Amino acid sequence: MELIPLFKKIIQAKSETPDDGGLLDFIVSYLPDFDAVRVDRNGVKNLFIFKKFSEGEHLCFAGHVDVVPAGEGWSVDPYGAVEKDGFIYGRGTQDMKSGVTAFLQAVKEADTFNGTLSLLLTSDEEGPAKDGTLAVLDYLKEQNMMPDSCIVAEPTCEHKFGDAIKIGRRGSINGVIEKEGKQGHAAYPEKAVNPIHKVAQVLHHMAGVNLDEGDENFAPSKFVVTDIRAGMEVTNVTPGKLKMMFNVRNSTNSDQASIEAFVHKYFSEMNYTLKLDQSAYPFMTDPNTKIVRTIDAAIEKVTGIKPKHSTAGGTSDARYIAPCGVDVIEFGVRNDTIHAPNERTTPQEVEKLYAVFKEVIASY
Ligand SMILES: [Zn+2]
Repeated sequence: MELIPLFKKIIQAKSETPDDGGLLDFIVSYLPDFDAVRVDRNGVKNLFIFKKFSEGEHLCFAGHVDVVPAGEGWSVDPYGAVEKDGFIYGRGTQDMKSGVTAFLQAVKEADTFNGTLSLLLTSDEEGPAKDGTLAVLDYLKEQNMMPDSCIVAEPTCEHKFGDAIKIGRRGSINGVIEKEGKQGHAAYPEKAVNPIHKVAQVLHHMAGVNLDEGDENFAPSKFVVTDIRAGMEVTNVTPGKLKMMFNVRNSTNSDQASIEAFVHKYFSEMNYTLKLDQSAYPFMTDPNTKIVRTIDAAIEKVTGIKPKHSTAGGTSDARYIAPCGVDVIEFGVRNDTIHAPNERTTPQEVEKLYAVFKEVIASY
């Protein structure tokens, strides 16, 4: 198929998490020369498909075929792949069926490669993501087939196609502080211990404060308070307990231990409990590795732009791939309408993304 008809076909497959919309079977049939392994786990459909052209390094393209539900507020059919005003509309056009289309076509057309080319695909990235990419990585570990480098084709560009790749991501740590007091009558504050008054004395040292300075790759890790609650919504009782919730998107310069120390510095005089839960760990791929140099050069060749190396934004499945010792980066189309109504991209961006991936395969 031609690239844009292929893109439209993939958009039209309704693949809301964890449904793959039949896309994994389609991809197997689209790459008849590749060896396909289905690594389904707990109802989640996953595919690893590869071709060994020669001895040499293993380059993997990774992504998800699932999309978030379309939701309300669309001016076109979210699964119609409607082309209008220079855009192609549809749920997943940016996140990340453009990426899947571009690398699928690029690997299909590869005649030669110095090593192994593969695709790692899941239908559960937008959901719990526990039996998707992780299941395939478990399989690759067992088979001793872990890639050397990986490109996750999530949408990374900000204003212009080619302006940003992701070479890492911040982690995410959620915290809950509970502070006991002694409930009492508002008219007799001396007989009670009001946890709001206690916490108010230290809050300005904590809320919105940077836990580290950041560095050339990461923004500072900020202590972001998300909720404070106490009391019973009355004016004559002071509360016996206060609960404060927070989140830290952490760089490699802060971790659970440094957050514990930070909280303790201000709460040490009070009896309190702290619970931390790390939902993602930060990672960073060295900008001097082969995959970063190769994709930078390919983007510059196709667009004339030197992409910035970003670690901003939320998490992606790259967080699971990096700890396996794989040099992982993310690159895809602009991301200004992801998860929104009327998600759309341009055919030109999809063409350019495909051209970048072809160039990476040729020059890796
Ligand atoms: Zn995505």
